[in-house]
Amino acid sequence: MKLRVLSISIFTVLISSGVVAQSKYSSTPPEVSPMPMKPEMTEIWEPEVSVVTPAKTLGDAPSDAIILFDGSNLDQWVSQKDSSKAAPWKIIDGKHFEVEPGTGGIQTKMKFGDIQLHIEFSAPDKVEGVSQGRGNSGLFLQNRYELQILDSYNNRTYRNGQAASIYKDVAPLVNAMRSPLEWNSYDVIYTAPRFKADGRLDSKARITVLHNGVLVQNNTTINGNTFYIGLHHYPEAHGDDVISLQDHGNKTQFRNIWLRKL
Ligand code: MG
Repeated sequence: MKLRVLSISIFTVLISSGVVAQSKYSSTPPEVSPMPMKPEMTEIWEPEVSVVTPAKTLGDAPSDAIILFDGSNLDQWVSQKDSSKAAPWKIIDGKHFEVEPGTGGIQTKMKFGDIQLHIEFSAPDKVEGVSQGRGNSGLFLQNRYELQILDSYNNRTYRNGQAASIYKDVAPLVNAMRSPLEWNSYDVIYTAPRFKADGRLDSKARITVLHNGVLVQNNTTINGNTFYIGLHHYPEAHGDDVISLQDHGNKTQFRNIWLRKL
């Protein structure tokens, strides 16, 4: 789009400077004389691109990130059962936190639209259960669209329900899961769905995900709200909304969660 705007503005300059001959009567494109372009004619200087200081370690938060968890507290999160109450999950050793099974999910206090998000997670060290019963949690973007969190290390389940799937929608490109004794990361680039003024869907949500640095969702179209039963669709228009983490009865662990608004 920017290139198009640029080419139109250059064309306007050429017309006004008389380089391009424009006919009053013809709708055919005017002829452009072979005036040579100069290097500076395609240079855009303003506004200057803002500076962000990257973290020393890849995966850590850059200077403009909103920190959702850095080991110290869960102040950015509340209970999903009652959003007036603190997040009921446990912080372990001042480093990570863990699902407290039966207490329900947790959600951010803040609401978000388009984001870049980083999250690290680990399945419980003690391997129990099979398929969807092992290390299950989930990251719900805008409280609706689930990026599945599961122990998919030597654990077969339906392909669009394994780790890094858009749950019951789109399978990941590959399985890049580490063992339950190790930490995994998701790096997510999420574009929220757009709705028209009358509430109808204008464009579906899209998501790109790297799982431990491996591309697993490549600008994937999200086909709607995550439903356990039935085809996914967009039942209603919505704006910015919270991010939530699922309590699926397993003690999945989390650390180093941050995002940038896009
Ligand atoms: Mg889940």
